Amino acid sequence: MAESIIQTDKKFCYLCGGGAFEPLDKHHVFGGARRNKSEKYGLTVYLHHSNCHIFGKYSVHQNAQINRMIQKRAQLTAMKHYGWTEEQFRQEFGKSYLGGTEDMKKIGVTYSMKKIPESGSGIVETEESYIELPVSEKNADRIMNHGTSHMLEGTVDRICRLQGYYLERIERVEKV
Ligand SMILES: [Zn+2]
Ligand SMILES: [Zn+2]
Repeated sequence: MAESIIQTDKKFCYLCGGGAFEPLDKHHVFGGARRNKSEKYGLTVYLHHSNCHIFGKYSVHQNAQINRMIQKRAQLTAMKHYGWTEEQFRQEFGKSYLGGTEDMKKIGVTYSMKKIPESGSGIVETEESYIELPVSEKNADRIMNHGTSHMLEGTVDRICRLQGYYLERIERVEKV
């Protein structure tokens, strides 16, 4: 069991910086077949179990962009720590994560509009008022590659809210 070379202080969540108000899981930055290598080289981070690790909308296992961001950072840390070139990293891990997201091209981003309940506190998800707004492939590409989703989302979100809806972004990523 190698110590993490990315995160030495394990009392905080690597993603949100919050303390251990909920259990922190050890997450292997490169999973699947690369999990053992992540362990061997200390490419692990500690994340809030629910929100930041497994279930949250912005958790590493739900959000491909967040996951990629952490993978990029981990690769750079590993290259510095072990004195590897990008090519040497690729030889160890089978690929490099430094480029864009070309290898994640097959994306579909859809927005579902959900009715904001008229009374009560907070937003309750109601499956019955479910409308999908397909986002063009070009926009989806831009969102994935440059993370400029906020402008687009913000605009549509404001329009929807005026009409009593809120937007939920659903991102679909298939790795090639
Ligand atoms: Zn967290
Ligand atoms: Zn994990």
